Amino acid sequence: MANTKKVGSSGRFGVRYGRRLRSKIVSVEKVQRGKQKCPYCKRSTAKRVAAGIWNCTKCNSKFTGKAYIVGE
Ligand SMILES: [Zn+2]
Repeated sequence: MANTKKVGSSGRFGVRYGRRLRSKIVSVEKVQRGKQKCPYCKRSTAKRVAAGIWNCTKCNSKFTGKAYIVGE
């Protein structure tokens, strides 16, 4: 775990990605764990269920977005 300390949750990606991209992923994953705005009911209740797939817990609709965050 010692060498994953600095890169946080992106440590699991190993060295396949550059450091710059990895630090970008870290910030993206913070958003990813939170709720995203649903395009249907406009509430921030959508949870990411898979890469690019989001499920709104309010209106129960599934929609696709970008792999990491919902497109703005
Ligand atoms: Zn919704």
